[in-house]
Amino acid sequence: MSIELSRQSERWLRVLVERTTDIIALVTFDGTITYVGPSIERVTGYTVEEVVGRNGFEFVHPEDLEYTTQQLTGILDQPGNSATIEFRYCHKNATWRWMEGTLINLLDDPVVGAVVCNYRDITERKQAEEERQQLLAREQTARAEAEAASARLYDLFMQAPAMMAILHGPEHRIEFANPLVQPHRDRADILGKTAREVSPELVEQGVLAILDEVYTTGTPFVATEFPVRIDHRGDGVLEETYYNCVCQPLRTAQGHIEGILAHSVVVTEQVQARRRVEELNRQLEAEKDALRQAEQEAQARAAELEAVLEAMTDGVIVCDARGVIRYTNAAYRSLLELEEDTDPSVLLLDNRFEWLSLRDKEGRPLPKEQLATLRVLRGERFSGIHAVDHLCRTRKGKDLILSASGAPIRDAAGQIVGGVVVFRDVTRQRHMEQQLQYNERKLRTLEDSNILAVAVSDSAGRIHEVNDRFAQLVGYSKEELLSGAVTKDHLIPEDYREALAQHEEILLATGAMPPWEKECLRKDGSRVPALMTGAMIDQERGLALVLFHDISERKAAERRKQEFLSMVSHELRTPLTSIMGFIDLALLYSELFPRPLSPEAEQLLGKMETGLKRAMGQVEVETRLVEELLEVTRLELHKFELSLQRENLVTIVQETVANQQQAACTRQIELVLPPDELVPVIADAGRVGQALTNYLTNALKYAPVDQPISVRLEVMGTVARVSVRDQGPGLTAEQQQRVWERFYQVAAPGRQGPDGGLGLGLAIARAIIEQHHGQIGVESAPGRGSTFWFTLPIEVSPEG
Ligand code: ADP
Repeated sequence: MSIELSRQSERWLRVLVERTTDIIALVTFDGTITYVGPSIERVTGYTVEEVVGRNGFEFVHPEDLEYTTQQLTGILDQPGNSATIEFRYCHKNATWRWMEGTLINLLDDPVVGAVVCNYRDITERKQAEEERQQLLAREQTARAEAEAASARLYDLFMQAPAMMAILHGPEHRIEFANPLVQPHRDRADILGKTAREVSPELVEQGVLAILDEVYTTGTPFVATEFPVRIDHRGDGVLEETYYNCVCQPLRTAQGHIEGILAHSVVVTEQVQARRRVEELNRQLEAEKDALRQAEQEAQARAAELEAVLEAMTDGVIVCDARGVIRYTNAAYRSLLELEEDTDPSVLLLDNRFEWLSLRDKEGRPLPKEQLATLRVLRGERFSGIHAVDHLCRTRKGKDLILSASGAPIRDAAGQIVGGVVVFRDVTRQRHMEQQLQYNERKLRTLEDSNILAVAVSDSAGRIHEVNDRFAQLVGYSKEELLSGAVTKDHLIPEDYREALAQHEEILLATGAMPPWEKECLRKDGSRVPALMTGAMIDQERGLALVLFHDISERKAAERRKQEFLSMVSHELRTPLTSIMGFIDLALLYSELFPRPLSPEAEQLLGKMETGLKRAMGQVEVETRLVEELLEVTRLELHKFELSLQRENLVTIVQETVANQQQAACTRQIELVLPPDELVPVIADAGRVGQALTNYLTNALKYAPVDQPISVRLEVMGTVARVSVRDQGPGLTAEQQQRVWERFYQVAAPGRQGPDGGLGLGLAIARAIIEQHHGQIGVESAPGRGSTFWFTLPIEVSPEG
C-alpha cells in the first residue's frame, strides 16, 4: 500500500473512531490504555486525557475484574483472537455503568500493535433486562407459590376430615370429591356424574331440592345435625347419618353461580353419643324421679302407717330386741291409762310387769316370761284364735281383759330385732259372752222347765226347735213338729190367720210381738186358748222365738166370773127397779100430803123430799153401772144381739144430742150435720145411739164445763163418720190405745167424773160399732182435747 493511501485510511479511521458512539480504546497486553476515542467523555464522564496512560482495569467493578482479566488473557495467545465482554465500569460520577464490548488481539498488527477494545454503555438495556429477569423470577415464584398453594389446598381437601365436593352446573355434576365422599367408590366412578346419579337416595329426602335452592338463589345452606339416610357401603342399606354441613355457591369472576362447594362433617357418632347421654340423663332423671317418688311413697306409707296405728282402737307397741318399747300408739296409752307426761321408765320391762299384774283367765298370776313382748322376742307368733287373753291392771288400777296378738320383727338375715304386740280390750266382749252364756242358760232352763211352750220358727212358719210343753200344747210329737211336715198353718185356726199376719208384721218391724191372746189348733182339731208372744232372734234367717202360755184355765175362770157377774147384775137390777119405784111413790105421797102444814112439818117434808131425790140420783147411777156391767158381760159371752134396720143416721145423732142437751142443759153442745138430710145406715138405732151417748157423756164428764162440745156427722165416700170433740185433758198415745180396754181408766187426779165410772163405756161403744162393721178411733194429745169418732158403712139403697 502506498503511503498516501495509508495516510488516507488513517484519517478515515480516525474520523470513524472519533465519530462513533461506541468507545474505541487501544490497550496493551496488561490493559494499559494507549488510545481512547473522544466518546469516552460522553459515556464515562472522563476526558481522553484523564484516561490515556491509566490501566483500564482500574475502572472495572471489582467483581468483574477476574472475568475481564481472563477474557483479555484468553485472547492474547493468538493474534486476531477476539472476545466479547460485559462488565461494570465506574463512571466519573461514581456510578456503575454496564458496558458491552469486544476485544480483538491486534498486538501483532504492525499498524495497531494493541488490543482493540470497542465498547458501549448498555446500562439501560441491562437494567431493562434485569427488570425483566426479576419480573420473570417473580412470576415464576408466584406461579410456584400458586401451584404449591393449590397443591396444599388439594391435599387439604383430600385429607380433610370432612366430605368436600364441588358440584358444577344446575345438575350438580361432581367436579371434585374427596375420599370421604362415597368412600367405597372409586373417584373415577363418581367424578363427572350428577349428584342424582351418584346418590339417588338423596332425591326423595329433599337434599337435591336444597342444592337446587342454593344454586338458584345463591343463599348458602347451613345446617347442623342434618339427618340423611345414606347408603354408606354401596349395598343398598340406608343408614341414618347426621351432618353438620355447608353448601356454598361458587361464582365466576363475573359473579354468576357456576356450582356449589359442599362441605359436610359426619356427626352421627356425636349425635348418637349425645342422644345416648341424653337418654342416660333421661333414665337417670327417671330413676331419680322414681327414687324420689319411692322415698315420698315410703314417707307417705310411714305417715299412713303411723296414722293408721294412731287411729286404731287396738293398742299397739313396738319393742326392740331387748324388749325396750320403741313405740306405743294412742290406743295403747289410753287403754292402759298412761298419762301424756308419764315417766318413760314405767314402760321398762320390769316395771311394766310389776304394775300390769298379769293374771290368766282364772285370775292366777302369770310368770314374767309369759309377757307377750317376751314371747314374741322368743320367736312366737300368736294371732286370731291363738291370741292370748290376759287379765291385767291399768296404771290407775282398773282391771281389764286384754287379748294380745304378736309377732317378732326380723332383719334380712332372719335375726329377731324386735317385736310388735297388738292389744285388744275384750273386757266388755268377755263379759257379754259370759252374759250371753248366762242368758242362754236361762233360756234353756225356761225351755227345759216346760212351764211355757217354746218354739223357734222361721218366716215360712217351719218349726226348728220345740220343747216338750209345746208338743203337749198342740198335741203333736216333737219329731212330727221338727220333721217340717207341721207348720204354723196347722197350728193356727183359720179365723186367726189375718190377725197372725198383722202380729208377724209387728214382730218383723220391731223385733218383738206384743202378748196376744188367741187359740191354737191341736192335732185332734180341738182348740186351746193361749197367750202368744215372740221375739226375733236372727233377723237374717228370719228366726223367731215364740212363747205360748196355755190360758185355758184362766179363760174358764173368766167365763165363770162373767156368768157370775151377769147373774149378780140381773139380781141387782130387779131390786134397783123396785127401789126407784118406791122412791117415786114416796115423792108422790109427799106431794099429796094435805096442806097447809105447820112450818116445822113443811120444813121436815122439804128435807125428806131432798133426801128422796138424792137417793133417786144415786139409784140412777147405780142402775147405769149395773146396765154397763150387764152389757159388758153380754159382750164377753157373745150374747150381744142387734136388731138391724135401715135407719137415718141424721135422726139418731139429732135425737141422742137432744137427749144429752136436755140432761146437761147448762152445757153447750154444737151439732154439725151434713147437707143431705138422709144418711142411710143398716143399724140398731138404740145401740148406735148408746155408743154416741157414751162418747158424749165422757166429753161432758172430762171436759171443763165452760167449754163447748162439738158433735159432727160427715159423709166420707162410702162411710158416715160421727165425731165428738171436746176441750178436755186429752190423751197420750198409749192411753189412746188402752181406753178401749174393759175397766181401763186413766189414773190421773181430777180425771174421775162426778159419778165415777167403771171404765166400760168405750169398750161397749167399740163392741157396738165393730158389730156394725164400722170403725172407732180417737185423735188426741195431752192438753189438746180429744176427738172420739166412729164410722158406719152407708147403706146403698137398691134403687141407687
Ligand atoms: P169411764 O166410765 O171411766 O168413763 P170409759 O170406758 O168411758 O170409762 O172411758 C175410759 C177412760 O178413758 C176414762 O176413765 C177416762 O180416763 C178416759 N176418757 C174417756 N173419754 C175421755 C175424754 N173425752 N177425755 C179424756 N179422757 C177420756
